[in-house]
Amino acid sequence: PMKINFLSNLTGSFAMPAMENPTVAMVEAAYQHHQLDWRYINCEVSPEHLKDAVRGARAMGWAGFNCSIPHKVAVIEHLDGLGQSAEIIGAVNTIVRSATGDYIGENTDGRGFVTALTEVTDPRGSQVVLFGAGGAARAVAVEMAFAGAVHITVVNRSRKRGEELTRLICEKTPATATFAIWDGDFPLPADTDIVINATSIGLYPNIDQQLDIDWETLSADMVVADGIHNPPMTPLLRTAQQKGCQFVNGQQMLVHQGAIGIHYWTGITVDTGVMHTALSQLFNPE
Ligand code: NDP
Repeated sequence: PMKINFLSNLTGSFAMPAMENPTVAMVEAAYQHHQLDWRYINCEVSPEHLKDAVRGARAMGWAGFNCSIPHKVAVIEHLDGLGQSAEIIGAVNTIVRSATGDYIGENTDGRGFVTALTEVTDPRGSQVVLFGAGGAARAVAVEMAFAGAVHITVVNRSRKRGEELTRLICEKTPATATFAIWDGDFPLPADTDIVINATSIGLYPNIDQQLDIDWETLSADMVVADGIHNPPMTPLLRTAQQKGCQFVNGQQMLVHQGAIGIHYWTGITVDTGVMHTALSQLFNPE
């Protein structure tokens, strides 16, 4: 008789709220496509239960898990170590069990972004304008800097967060950065190569919200990237398309950060097309 293994490898997500998080759909699609005996469990975990949730994952031998809002920073104290970029970013979205059983925090948000962007343009030597200075912006800025962006102009509504991120880029990465306060229509410098929205502007349900940019300054040779994954086609990307710019949507970023996570856990490079199809069926059913 054939020896059957009924013990699957476990992964999942801890977040609150968890109901709208589509990661489970795309990760399980990849597991199934590659016939991996792996599971991904979407868990709603409140801040006061985060510590126990991580202990539970350890106790059950989970191979790893994702953390999303509001746990990306809080989870760090429950882990055994951090990867290099997660350490600089100061936030973790992917936890990986090492060969010795340690739980190491990584951040794949920025790397997923860079991988998606690289399908359209080479970040090396680029001049970047980055809108936003929150968690997503930090991850994107740090990884863009390590991917070879030369200069990043951080544009943010609140000065404090914007200046903090600018300082972080200058002190901890190979890139230079300047801060610009965002009040009114922001004029893009003429030498800009890549324009990035890492704010929550345009995120469902505020799907008609547009960034305050002086659109006369957006030229067709600039690449525009939006971190918003729902909906994938935002007002920013629609304007970019009208101007003849190449663009990257947040769904591509989400898929690639998920694929990097799966690679950490399983060692397998999954077919991102399968993950993309799974998400597209959810967000653009028509
Ligand atoms: P944060 O709350 O940490 O940061 C939000 C940022 O948006 C801040 O810079 C904030 O500015 C700015 N902002 C929000 N509303 C406005 C507004 N009306 N006008 C000007 N600025 C505004 O959020 P995150 O960084 O965690 O997430 C940002 C977005 O990135 C989310 O929509 C999220 O869905 C997306 N994301 C996408 C991922 C993907 O894989 N596609 C991964 C992670 C995040 P201020 O400092 O002034 O408040």
